[in-house]
Amino acid sequence: MSTAALPPSLPPLPAAGAGEGLSAELLARLFEQARPLVDALFAQVNEGVTVQAQDLSLCFANPAAARILGVSSSEELLRVGGARVFERYEVLDSTGQPIDLGQLPGRQVVCGKSTPDRVLRFRDRHTGEEHWYRVSAAPVRDAQGRVVYAVNVFRDVTEVMRTQERLSLLAEAGELLSTSLELENTLAATARLLVPRLADWCAVHLAGDTTPSRQVASIHMDPAKVELARRLADLYPTDPGARSGIDHVMRTGQPELTSDITDAMLVAAARDEEHLRLLRELGLRSIMVVPLNARGRTLGTLTLATAESLRRLGQEELRLVEELARRAALAVDNARLYTEARRAQARQAVALEAGRMGAWEWDIQAQRVNWAPELERIHGIPEGSFGGSFEDYQSDMHPEDRERVLTSIQRVVAELQPEHHVQYRIILPDGRVRWVEAHGRLTLDEQGRPSRLTGVCTDITERLALEEDARRLVREQAARAEAERARQHTAGLLASLEKAQAELAQRAQELSRSNADLEQFAYVASHDLQEPLRMVASYVQLLSRRYKGKLDADADEFIRYAVDGATRMQALINDLLAFSRVGTRGKELVPVPLERSMERALSHLHLALRESGAEVKVEPLPWVKGDETQLAQLLQNLVGNAVKFRGERPPHIRVSATSEGDTVTVAVEDNGIGIEPQYYERIFAIFQRLHGKEEYPGTGIGLSICKKIVERHGGRIWVESTPGQGSTFRFTLGTAAVPQG
Ligand code: ADP
Repeated sequence: MSTAALPPSLPPLPAAGAGEGLSAELLARLFEQARPLVDALFAQVNEGVTVQAQDLSLCFANPAAARILGVSSSEELLRVGGARVFERYEVLDSTGQPIDLGQLPGRQVVCGKSTPDRVLRFRDRHTGEEHWYRVSAAPVRDAQGRVVYAVNVFRDVTEVMRTQERLSLLAEAGELLSTSLELENTLAATARLLVPRLADWCAVHLAGDTTPSRQVASIHMDPAKVELARRLADLYPTDPGARSGIDHVMRTGQPELTSDITDAMLVAAARDEEHLRLLRELGLRSIMVVPLNARGRTLGTLTLATAESLRRLGQEELRLVEELARRAALAVDNARLYTEARRAQARQAVALEAGRMGAWEWDIQAQRVNWAPELERIHGIPEGSFGGSFEDYQSDMHPEDRERVLTSIQRVVAELQPEHHVQYRIILPDGRVRWVEAHGRLTLDEQGRPSRLTGVCTDITERLALEEDARRLVREQAARAEAERARQHTAGLLASLEKAQAELAQRAQELSRSNADLEQFAYVASHDLQEPLRMVASYVQLLSRRYKGKLDADADEFIRYAVDGATRMQALINDLLAFSRVGTRGKELVPVPLERSMERALSHLHLALRESGAEVKVEPLPWVKGDETQLAQLLQNLVGNAVKFRGERPPHIRVSATSEGDTVTVAVEDNGIGIEPQYYERIFAIFQRLHGKEEYPGTGIGLSICKKIVERHGGRIWVESTPGQGSTFRFTLGTAAVPQG
């Protein structure tokens, strides 16, 4: 509500340099004059915000920043200083590499370097606790463009990063496990994936069918620890009947998790002094043993432990490792099935084929065939029933194969090929089909002409079936792997989608909360301050009336300042109150004649209009869906500004409307001083003004109220202007039908 009659309020915020939101001067002024307001506003923010000076000292920190850096309050953080506080953390980059504190975005920015946002991991050196933050820093410059401060913002992205890390871990492990049948290497590779991302230590044990379980992988960051563990296992072998540990999990198929290993536990577990010493040396903090379960059997275990990193394995890690173990178990199961099938197949094939071989000899020159009785058995005909001709041999051959067999033999003979090799089908008297493989060698006579073809026929029906089975197994395995990959992929996508939705919902909630908080704050501040201010204002006015001219000139001036200040404060508070009420006190949107709101606005402004000699032309305005009081306020602010920001000429103001579909665009046009295009957006933000209070009074809240009102009505507001010629403010509203009667 920037009414012309009101004296100016707070010292105007200087126009910031192009492209920069915040100047050092403005920041210093904000801290000097509005520190409680700044503190109160930033106390509402979830992100950690600090302002760091050139010498790296902190001149501002909000409570969230203190919380993030593990300090009791922002005052404490300012007192101790950022550098000291940071000593507590190891700062790692997104790949887990430690970074030098000089690389923190804030420190880069105060040195005048530009730096992108960074995702950094803060690891507490004492507790091992880890948090991820997206850290950004923006420079604040002085009038000469030198960087004076860095504004740092820390946003906690631990959840998002953890989820991302886990999904990629699952995806990588899934990929490894589903594509390879090379079991032990694959399991070792999987264990390697988990160290150090999830734990400091990972071991895989496989259950033997008859033998005790055996360790197939043991991965640790520090080889000395692997050695120590081996010594421990040699000296103190685990008791197979123990009520916890790897063998127990193998038996029960149930996971075990100990998140916090205490010294008392070690004492209880140790068998003697030396054992206790070694256990303490191992320094375990958390341990979990997860079974590899597939098709109702426990095929092995996956053991994860943390020690020197001080990280703690909890339920969340357990769930992730269980999912991983499920995939690993599937891989183990597949690999076993495959090996078993291959072995059985080889055994069977050898046994079967040995019993089904029949020798033969074809005398090429005499055109006669001799064969062993087994060949007749293979062909399923009574012994001695083969004559001696090639036709006899072909009599029970599958008709489709006869030609091929004949051509193959003819070619061997004609081309003098040393080897003959062909597969064909025969049809048994009962109609069953069997596969036979003939394999022969050609012998030549002294003149080098083909004389004999000698060889064996083998019934390969079973072998072919087994081969087909093996191929099917491999196909199935590949299909299973493919399905699993697709499942993981979908699950991954779904999880990220859910995560994104949750993030969005949370942001939306935070946003609406911070808006609500802001409104609440503005309301309380303005409402509660109104009373005392009214009193102060009336007393200084009284002072001014009673003592004006009776004291010395200085006193007169002081009184004038006091009256001026109090009145400005009142204006500011009224405007803040109006701003806070747009959202909270708005009425339901109903059909209203915009012309009525216009009349109300003009009647409130009649003094200013008369004094300035303004000419206002209002063209026909439609009915709209709205809150009549707020629309009057909107028009009053816009017409009021058109009068206030007039140039040398008397103001000419035109209010008009154009409808399109169910939207109307209302224009308030003036012939005033105009606005440079780079300020078109900025003027709608709260407290933003382009002029000093001496030039044009105001609080810088009027247009932000306009924007809030228009947005509450579902419309938008913008400005176009030619500097020195005038401005046109336009806003949209939804039209309403003129009610009947
Ligand atoms: P205030 O009028 O209290 O300064 P507003 O939020 O109403 O605050 O306006 C913000 C700034 O936008 C003004 O300080 C002025 O610089 C500019 N402005 C607003 N209306 C006009 C106008 N009709 N012509 C030129 N400048 C304007």
